[in-house]
Order: sequence, then C-alpha cells, then structure tokens
Amino acid sequence: MIFSIADNIQNVRKRIQKATIEAGRSENAVELLAVSKTRPAEALFEAMQAGIESFGENYLSEALVKQSELERLCSAEQYSALSWHFIGPIQSNKTKAIAEHFDWVHSVDRLKIAKRLNDQRPDKAKPLNICIQVNIDHEETKSGVFLEDVPNLIDALKTMPKLKFRGLMCIPNAQLGEQSVKQAFMKMKSCFDGLSSEDSQVDTLSMGMSGDIEIAIESGATMVRVGTSLFGAREAQQH
Ligand SMILES: *Cc1c(COP(=O)(O)O)cnc(C)c1O
Repeated sequence: MIFSIADNIQNVRKRIQKATIEAGRSENAVELLAVSKTRPAEALFEAMQAGIESFGENYLSEALVKQSELERLCSAEQYSALSWHFIGPIQSNKTKAIAEHFDWVHSVDRLKIAKRLNDQRPDKAKPLNICIQVNIDHEETKSGVFLEDVPNLIDALKTMPKLKFRGLMCIPNAQLGEQSVKQAFMKMKSCFDGLSSEDSQVDTLSMGMSGDIEIAIESGATMVRVGTSLFGAREAQQH
C-alpha cells in the first residue's frame, strides 16, 4: 500500500495527539514543523493542501529556490500564511538571506551569527524568532552550545531588537539509545522551564524528530520537527 503525504500527515498528527494526551498535556501543546529539506516544491504544496503551514529547511540555496517555486504554485494568501524555519548549521555568509527569507531560526549557537541576523533583519520585518541550539550530548561534531553556556548567549540576544528569543532546540545522539535520548530531553526541559518561568516570551522547546516524537512530547517538547515520517525516506544528498 502506498501512502500519500496527506495520509502521512494524518498519521503523524495522530501520533502527536496520542503522545500529548498520554503525557497529560493540553491538546494544542505541541506544534508540528514539517521538515522539507531535499523535497521538491510539489511535495510542500501537497503538504500545504493537507494543512501544513510551517516548513523547516536546512540548506539555504535549496530553500530559496523552493520558496519561489511554491509562491508560484499557490495563491498569495496561502503563501503569506506560511512560516519558514531555518534549522540547519549556519555559515556567516548565509545570515543575510536567512534574515530576509525566514521567520524562525532554530540553530543559533554563537554570538557572531546572532549579531549578523539582528543587523541584517530587514527593518520592515517582524523580529526574527530565535531558538538556541544546544549540543546536549557534548558531541564534538555537532553544532550547538553546551547547556551551561545558554544563559550568556541569551543575555546577548536580549540586547538585539530584531531578534525575539523563543526557546531551545536540540538533536540528541540517537545512537546512544532511548534512555539517553530521554535523559537529554529531560535536561532540555528543565533548562527550558527555568527560562520560561522568567520570561513569558520563551515558549518553544524544539525537539523530537520522526524516530522520537513520542519521547520528546512526553519530555515536554512544544514543537516537533518531522521529515521522514511525513515525506518518506530521504535519498543520499550532496551539499
Ligand atoms: C532532518 C532534520 C529533522 C527531521 O528528521 P527526520 O528524522 O527526517 O524526521 C529534524 N531536525 C533537524 C535539525 C533536521 O536536520
């Protein structure tokens, strides 16, 4: 049996709903971000028809091409309802286009990048929503700040008027097993609770992907980033 993107979306929504209820959380506590990296604009369009309004992209040039293709596929009204989330590693020569073409960035992990995004966010645009990426398992090859360095970066973000600090993001090391992933998510949750209790603008805990949606929701995620379970397996990619 072949599943359509619409079927997959329905299944993922059911998984989210079930996990949310089982965790005793309120019905709309968890938002679904459709991770559309490597997928063609037509796939995003199909997802939009099934109610998706937020897309996560990792590669800038690919994303920009797709955004203009999608703009042609849908009405102006439909297109303007979309929100675009940059979730990949950021090189400093990419910040200007990110600041111009995205609504959210989940992968801020250093001051220099934050400053550039703030300086380059167009004046007429709303502040760019920011999550700090945390390298929760202290992996050498992974982006993100260590949890203990989060407060310093937040202090800096608060001085930047074109950025709006919304919360934290992480990608735990799935190879360490479910128990370890759960522990990583719980550490994130504990830090997030401290931050959100001090600042009501902090409302986003971005964690959980296709393989660990349920563990993330049970641990307090407010936004899950799902690619494979919506669009199928990705082909090997070159970037
Ligand atoms: C690719 C990606 C995802 C989605 O992963 P799936 O396993 O395909 O659901 C989520 N977050 C980030 C940062 C990604 O790069």
